[in-house]
Amino acid sequence: MKGFEYLQTQLDDMKKEGTFRELIPLESAQGSRVTIKGKNVIQLSSNNYLGLTSHPRMKEAANKATEEFGVGTGSVRTIAGTLTMHERFERKLAEFKHTEAALVFQSGFTTNQGILSSILTDEDVVISDELNHASIIDGIRLTKAARKIYKHTDMTSLEEKLKESGDYRTRLVVTDGVFSMDGNIAPLQDIVELAEKYDALIMVDDAHASGVLGDNGRGTVNHFGLDGRVHIQVGTLSKAIGVLGGYVASTQTLREYLIHKGRPFLFSTSHPPAVTAANDAAIDVLLEEEHLITKLWDNTTFFKQGLADMGFDTGISETPITPVMIGDDAMTHQFSDELFHEGVFAQGIVFPTVPKGKGRIRTIVTAEHSKEELQEALNAFEKVGKKLSVI
Ligand SMILES: *Cc1c(COP(=O)(O)O)cnc(C)c1O
Repeated sequence: MKGFEYLQTQLDDMKKEGTFRELIPLESAQGSRVTIKGKNVIQLSSNNYLGLTSHPRMKEAANKATEEFGVGTGSVRTIAGTLTMHERFERKLAEFKHTEAALVFQSGFTTNQGILSSILTDEDVVISDELNHASIIDGIRLTKAARKIYKHTDMTSLEEKLKESGDYRTRLVVTDGVFSMDGNIAPLQDIVELAEKYDALIMVDDAHASGVLGDNGRGTVNHFGLDGRVHIQVGTLSKAIGVLGGYVASTQTLREYLIHKGRPFLFSTSHPPAVTAANDAAIDVLLEEEHLITKLWDNTTFFKQGLADMGFDTGISETPITPVMIGDDAMTHQFSDELFHEGVFAQGIVFPTVPKGKGRIRTIVTAEHSKEELQEALNAFEKVGKKLSVI
C-alpha cells in the first residue's frame, strides 16, 4: 500500500545506523529462565522483580475472578465498568500506601498522563527532573502549565527553578522515585524539604520502587520516612506487582477530581476482573511474603558485587537495576548478542534511550533467580567482557 514511503525512509536510516530493533518474543512464561529462539536462557531484562508474574496465589485469584466475572468489563469505569472488586482494591491500595485514597488507571503510563494533563492550568508550573520517564514528559506536553526542567537530581538546579516560580498558583515538582536507566534513587528527603520551603506540591513516580523499596515494597516515600509529606504517589502494577496497571495514591480530593477529569480514566475501558483480582492478591503477597523482597535485595548485592569484582563499571545504581556500562552503541549490541550466545538474555540500551556513548547492558535480577543462575550469568559476563576487552 502506498503512502508510507516517508516512514520507510526513516526506518531504513535506522537500519543503517544500527538503531533498528526487532521485537524479541518469549516462547515461555516470564521467569528467571525463559525460552527465546528455542534457547533456554537466564532472564536479566524483565521488571519482574519479585517473580510475581506467575505467583500461584495470583494466578488462582485471576482464574477465579474470570470464572465468576468473565474476561472483560464492557465499559469505562465512569459509565458501567466499575466492579465492586475495583473499588475494594483501591481501598486496599490506599491503606497499603498509608494514603487517604487511591485510583487505578489502565497503566502507569496513563496514570502520569491522566494526572499531569488534568490538574494543572496555565496559572501553574511543573518542575521536572531532566531524566524523568517518557510518560511524565508526555503528561507535561499535554498540560498548559509552564514547564521548567531541572538538572538530574541536582538540588541547586531545583532550588533555582523553585525561586523563579513564586508567581504561579501551584508549583508541582515531579520526579521518578527510582530512575529506570541508571537505577539511582531520587534524593527525596532534599526534594521534600525544598518543596516545603517554596510551598510546592510533590509528585513521585515509583514505578521501579513499587514492590522494591520501603516496608513491604511501599515505595520511596515510605523508604525515606516521608509518609504524609508527598502529595501524589504514582505506582505501577506492571513491574514488581507482576500484572498490569498504574495507580495514584493521594487524597480523596485528588481521587474524585481524577474520576471526573483524568482522561485515560474517563475514556478507556476498565481492567478485566483477572487483572484486578491478581493485583489485589499481589498486595497480600507483599504483606505476607516478605522473604521475596529480602531475596531480591540479597540477589542484587550478590550480582553487583560479582560485577564489581570483575572490574565492570555499574554506574550510580542503588537498586536492583544494574547497568553494565559498555559505551559504544554497536559494541553494546554486540555484548548483548554474545551474552545470549552464552545463555544470558540481557538487552543493550543505547541512544536515544540513554545519551550517545553511554550504551549499557541493563540488568535486573529478581527474587526468582537462584545464586547458581546468577553465578552462571556472572561467568558469561566475564567471558564476554574479556573477549570484547571491556574488562
Ligand atoms: C515503566 C514506567 C512507567 C509505566 O508503567 P506501565 O505500568 O508499564 O505503563 C511509568 N513511569 C516509570 C518511571 C516507569 O519506569
